[in-house]
Amino acid sequence: TILPTMPDHYLVIGGEGFLGRHVVEQIRARNDGSTIAVFDIIQRTNEKDVRYFKGDLREYDVVYAALDGITAVIHTASPPHVSGPNPPRDLYFGINVKGTGNVIKACQERGITKLVVTSSGSVISTGKAMVNVDESAPYPPVAIDVYTESKIEGEKLVLAANNQRGLLTCTIRPSGIFGPGDSQIIPGFLEVCERGQHIIQIGDNTGLMDFTYVGNVAYAHVLAVEQLTSPTSPAAGQAFNITNGTPIPF
Ligand code: NAD
Repeated sequence: TILPTMPDHYLVIGGEGFLGRHVVEQIRARNDGSTIAVFDIIQRTNEKDVRYFKGDLREYDVVYAALDGITAVIHTASPPHVSGPNPPRDLYFGINVKGTGNVIKACQERGITKLVVTSSGSVISTGKAMVNVDESAPYPPVAIDVYTESKIEGEKLVLAANNQRGLLTCTIRPSGIFGPGDSQIIPGFLEVCERGQHIIQIGDNTGLMDFTYVGNVAYAHVLAVEQLTSPTSPAAGQAFNITNGTPIPF
């Protein structure tokens, strides 16, 4: 059900990415008078109802410039999660911690009141299957990988900024995301099959993983923006685990 909404002037950071594109589409589909701007390091699309800002989140001045006239920010940008022996630590921390810090500061300087940031379900992952965990689960003492370490630090900054200098914040924590435009998960599975690696099983097939439809993840972001209207809102300062319902063996 799409509820009646209040118009906002949105900046979707990472709006040229997989999830960001769906966020843009959902804001547009509401047709409630909202305007859409996209901030991304690349420009892939050229839609006439979107204002584009091409820039790097790590540069404060360009982030600040893009926030002119904006009333709500949805920040989905991050480098992709890669596994392997040499994860790009500086890249992850530069974008997910310093870049996210830039977004927070620029929102505060501009007097923007609503900021929703994409975190990751992995921030509470212990590396073991977790069933029916809620948001009271703590960050584990050691993050499962460097990407997640940077997502935890970024999320902490966002939640600590809630109700500081008029800004209200929350974070959305999807696990795996699937759907139209995915260039990571399903293409990754196909690559494994093409290489014939699917005949190798690691573990006993009882590990669980949640995959959530991208439209549902995007919807969580726009609903969260709507809730950030008052410091007493139950969404303000909160992180939300987003799941599709039933985890699957992975
Ligand atoms: P994506 O790579 O498709 O989109 C990310 C976008 O951010 C890209 O368009 C990229 O150009 C942009 N970006 C990267 N660095 C930037 C920078 N320095 N400045 C400006 N823009 C920059 O990724 P996605 O799958 O859409 O992921 C969106 C968010 O969801 C990310 O925060 C990611 O950590 C989170 N997430 C994704 C998954 C998943 O399965 N895809 C799972 C959990 C969490």
